[in-house]
Amino acid sequence: MRVRFAPSPTGYLHVGGARTAVFNWLLARKEGGVFVLRIEDTDRERSSEEHTRAILDGLTWLGIDWDEGPYFQSEGVERHRAAALRLLEEGKAYRDFADPSAVRAEAEKRGWHPSRVAREWALAMEPSEAEARARAGEPHAIRFLVPEGETVFEDLVHGEMRFRNEDIDDLVILRSDGTPVYNLAVVSDDSEMRITHVLRGDDHLSNTPKQILLYRALGLPEPRFGHVPLILGPDGKRLSKRHGATAVEEYARQGILPEAMFNFLALLGWNPGDEREFMTRQELVEAFSVERILKKSAVFDMEKLTWLNGRHLGARSAEDLLPEVKARLEGVEGADAGRIGDTGWLLAAIELHKVRARTLDDLAHQIVPFVTDEVTYEEKAVKKHWAKDPAQVRARLMAVAELLEATPFEAEALETELRALAERLGVGAGKLIHPLRVALTGRLASAGIFDVLVLLGRDRSLQRVRRAVERLAELEKTLS
Ligand code: GLU
Repeated sequence: MRVRFAPSPTGYLHVGGARTAVFNWLLARKEGGVFVLRIEDTDRERSSEEHTRAILDGLTWLGIDWDEGPYFQSEGVERHRAAALRLLEEGKAYRDFADPSAVRAEAEKRGWHPSRVAREWALAMEPSEAEARARAGEPHAIRFLVPEGETVFEDLVHGEMRFRNEDIDDLVILRSDGTPVYNLAVVSDDSEMRITHVLRGDDHLSNTPKQILLYRALGLPEPRFGHVPLILGPDGKRLSKRHGATAVEEYARQGILPEAMFNFLALLGWNPGDEREFMTRQELVEAFSVERILKKSAVFDMEKLTWLNGRHLGARSAEDLLPEVKARLEGVEGADAGRIGDTGWLLAAIELHKVRARTLDDLAHQIVPFVTDEVTYEEKAVKKHWAKDPAQVRARLMAVAELLEATPFEAEALETELRALAERLGVGAGKLIHPLRVALTGRLASAGIFDVLVLLGRDRSLQRVRRAVERLAELEKTLS
């Protein structure tokens, strides 16, 4: 088995292309096949080295390695041309000297497809005349003479596909400037690279009968074809920038992990046939099969991507996550460099929060209150747990401060003492824990409060509780 991913470097690696790459790569790895990378750079105007670089970087980030290539389609132009000329020699293609605008005007007049007019005019010309005009250097295109009949193939995803050849126009295979056209170049390249399975987006479905006809005309063995369904946005329209980021690198920047993106892409139009969704690369390789690629379109669900990302984040070791988290924390205003530089401490902070976070950004965000001197109180947290009865809350936090001074600073002891205190005060533990969380982190949600205390340490915890007591006194005044 030899498969390929053949992106055009006319943009960055987008979600649809990446998903095609993932499917081909999984298939190759599952079947022990070869994964070939070919950059289809024949559109000189729209292709750029920068885009090629971005596509290679995107694949590498996703962990997609290629066994051969990158080959560049432009390197095969002579071979593509030779194929076109061979078809011409064998009477399977013809020279088209007509002025395209005259063809269009005539086609409109007759209500025909332009290629039918082009064919009629071209075939009306004596072959000797066509040869003479070509030799004299008159510019012309070469068109493939689509034979009569029907083109049938067994699609790996959709099953039997039938196309009436009369619906296929005589496609240009060599432009008048001598450059080969996509459909010919692809056939010539896939054949040269001995590709056995072409798995690509549904948007290429209409190209496939043309390509099959070219294989047959050139006497080349045909690969199997499979067309994977489109990716839609949540509104049911084809995925586009309107729906958010479409470039894979944007997700990398947002803190999505490559293994999560890979997992997510693999599930866009495929599933393992059981309930699993969170899957490692290895599990995906083992489970992958073309038979389970779905016929219907897949919907890009950002919620699911972040959920999967959270799962993969939790599965990573704190050591692995350290550099990314550190870099993010270093960018935070007022961050304590000493704290961030204390690797043992930072690892503990990551360990505590990684299972609660959904993205790297979110993970760093959760650690922020631990590395800054000042706590920023969230308005909704203050409203919910402080502002209803500031005097009461202040008294309770003062009692908590006493407790923090007297108790050994480890989670279990702190918990026992705090629960005993709540009992003595005749309130549920939550009446102490929630206001304390606001005092320590400024937020409504955090990791378990006793872990938060330990991670902050006694001095910082006390300092924060005392500051909260002051703030509560001010709050009391403004409210009375
Ligand atoms: N270069 C084409 C594209 O990026 C893909 C060609 C193919 O897979 O056959 O859409």
